[in-house]
Amino acid sequence: MSSAFSIGRIAGIPIRLHVTFLAIIPFVAYVFTTFTQPFPVKIFGQVFDFAYGFGAVEPSGARWAYSFAFSILLFVCVALHELGHSFVAMRYGIKIRSITLYIFGGVASMEDIPRDPSMEARMAVAGPGVSGIIGVGCTLLSIQSAILLGGGHPLTTLLWTLGVINIVLMIFNLLPAFPMDGGRVLRAWFASRMAYVEATRRAANIGKFFAIMMFFLGLFGGGILLVVIAIFIYIAASDEERSTAIVVPLEGVKVRDIMSVDLKTVSPETPLPEIMNLMFREKHRGYPVLVDGRLAGIVTISDVQRVPEEKREKITVGEIMVKSIYVIEPNADAAEAMKKMMERQIRRLPVMDEGKLVGIVSRSDLLRAIEICSGW
Ligand SMILES: [Zn+2]
Repeated sequence: MSSAFSIGRIAGIPIRLHVTFLAIIPFVAYVFTTFTQPFPVKIFGQVFDFAYGFGAVEPSGARWAYSFAFSILLFVCVALHELGHSFVAMRYGIKIRSITLYIFGGVASMEDIPRDPSMEARMAVAGPGVSGIIGVGCTLLSIQSAILLGGGHPLTTLLWTLGVINIVLMIFNLLPAFPMDGGRVLRAWFASRMAYVEATRRAANIGKFFAIMMFFLGLFGGGILLVVIAIFIYIAASDEERSTAIVVPLEGVKVRDIMSVDLKTVSPETPLPEIMNLMFREKHRGYPVLVDGRLAGIVTISDVQRVPEEKREKITVGEIMVKSIYVIEPNADAAEAMKKMMERQIRRLPVMDEGKLVGIVSRSDLLRAIEICSGW
């Protein structure tokens, strides 16, 4: 994803920030300078006036400084929450590609989807668990700070606010709004009772329902942030549902099982009218282009259509073929081929075995395989 950039690594996991997250840091800092919520607590017979929010911190320079520090620490807490998920996942041998922080929280991108319900449930709970521990830890520290520095001290306020928000984070993430953590626990619960795709569909529908509720709650008084989070959850739930419906039925299917092997290839010298005839006759929409038996490019019907009709006579395949080609091995998973095509927005992949072109796999090959495997 190009709208996110890397800021470093923890335990070998690249931590990435999505651009939306950058906007949220000053926004959160600003919001927390605007209010204060007093919270008197009696400790050892003495009353301490804890405050949630930095609105009462004076002077304004200190108010902003503490609020900014809070905002950045909050982002560290979200990253730690994701690391909680990631460490449990790594214990099960799952590789973590990256952790990306979005406006609504973090997402750990994993090599494999855990398909074991109890494993997924444990992974899902680990994140809110970390938030809970941080929340309780900060609250205890704020009590210590209140005893030493006073309840109204900005440091006490910082610790108290962090403590409260982490506990809120824990509760919010445990809502059964898939793909949030609580929703994943819910899917794991469904998955122990029914097929994985069906379990995902149900959890996603509940997630979407929650998203719609949040959307209207945000619209009528809950605030714009809730509306944005609702939209993100809705999109994420739909995405996860769709990709699960595609990837799961293809499990165990290899590229070699579904690729087309009756290979028609063309040379770069082929004139365009000739290849158009070929496409028309054989009903293939794309052809690998070979030079001395080596794959040099790929030419598709849309490449040809981009050339104005009157110019096609004088142009050859070599001039319009796509040279930067993504290929796949025959032993690769069909799901990987599908992922590659969706990411690069292409419709076919040449299949290469030790540098030799052995076949071609297209989206229609994959869709046929999905249909057959899932018995639609
Ligand atoms: Zn989480």
